Amino acid sequence: MRLSLFSLLPHRHPNIITTTPRSSRMDASFHRRKDKVVVIVGATGSGKSRLSLDLASLSFPFSELINSDKMQVYNGLEITTNKIPIHERKGVPHHLLGDVSPAHGEFSPSDFRRRAGEIISDITSRNKLPIVVGGSNSFVHALLVERFDPGLNVFDGDAEISPELRYECCFLWVDISFNVLRDYLLKRVDDMLDSGMVEELAEFFDRDSPDLELESASRTGLRKAIGVPEFDRFFKLYPPGCHDSLRAGAYEKAVRAIKDNTCQLAKRQIQKIHRLKAAGWDLRRLDATEAFRVLMTSGRDGGANGGDRWSDVWGRDVLEPSVKIVRRFLME
Ligand code: ATP
Repeated sequence: MRLSLFSLLPHRHPNIITTTPRSSRMDASFHRRKDKVVVIVGATGSGKSRLSLDLASLSFPFSELINSDKMQVYNGLEITTNKIPIHERKGVPHHLLGDVSPAHGEFSPSDFRRRAGEIISDITSRNKLPIVVGGSNSFVHALLVERFDPGLNVFDGDAEISPELRYECCFLWVDISFNVLRDYLLKRVDDMLDSGMVEELAEFFDRDSPDLELESASRTGLRKAIGVPEFDRFFKLYPPGCHDSLRAGAYEKAVRAIKDNTCQLAKRQIQKIHRLKAAGWDLRRLDATEAFRVLMTSGRDGGANGGDRWSDVWGRDVLEPSVKIVRRFLME
C-alpha cells in the first residue's frame, strides 16, 4: 500500500506546535520533535540497497535515500565499490552516492555527519522521509549520535557508544546467517569480475598521477576500496598486455585476497552492528537468510520460477516486516 507522508507525520503539522500552552515559559520549538529518519544497516551484500529501493519505490514514495557506504560516496570505481547503477535506481533520489571527488582527499566521518545532516534537514523541510542506507557503521554512528567526538574511535577503542541520538530513528538491520552470506559474497566477487571490475581497475591505475605527492594524497579514500590494493600489486607486476606465464597465478591470488577481505569486512561490520545494539540502539533485525538461500539455489531472475520464489521469500521475511515497522514508526 502506498502512503502519503502528510498522513503519517502528524508532528510536522503546524497545529502541533501551537498546542504548546501560551503560559509555558519554554520556547515552542523545544516541543518540536526530532526529525524522523529511517536507517538501514547490515553487512556488505545483505540486501540493504534492495530493501531501501523497495521501501522507497513500493511503499513510501515520499522517501529519499542517503548513502552511508564510505567508498560509494566517491565518484569512480562503480563496479569495484558495487554502486547501484542509475538505471536501477527506479527514479528514487539518491544522495551522497558518487557525489564526492576522491581527489579532495578522504571524506571523513565528520564530513559525513555535516553533509548528511544538511541533506536530512533539506529532505525533511520538503516533508519527505530520509532513509540512510549503507554499511559504514562509523558513518552511521557519526551522523546519528547527539554529540560526536571525532577523536574517539568507538568501535576499536574502549570508548562507549552513546544511546543518545539527534534524530528519531527507525533502524532496520538486514541480517543473514554468515555461512549463507559468505557463499553469496564469493559469488558476488565473481559476478563483479565478470562485469568488468578488472578493466575498471586497470583504467583507474592508468589514470593515476605519476606525481608522488598527489599519489600519496589519494592513497586515502577510494584507494582503500577492496579491490584496489589487491590489484595494485597485480598490475605493478603484470601490467595490462603482459603475457608472463606467472600472470594467471598472480591473478588468482588477487581474486582470493579480494574474496577474503570482503568476508572479513562483512564480519567486522556485523561485530560493529552488535556493538550498536548492545549500546541500546533499537535495531530491528530482519532475517534475510532464507531469501538468500533461495537466491543462491534458484537465482533472482532465472528459470523454473526461481525469481518468483526469491521475491516471495524476500517479501515475506524482509520487505513486509520492514514496511510494518516503518509505518508504525511514522504514525507514532
Ligand atoms: P573502518 O573503521 O574499518 O573503516 P567503517 O565502518 O568506517 O569501518 P566500512 O564500511 O566497514 O567502514 O569499511 C571499511 C573498509 O572496507 C573500507 O576502508 C574499505 O577498505 C572497505 N570497503 C567498505 N565498503 C566498500 C565498498 N563499497 N567497496 C569496496 N571496499 C569497501
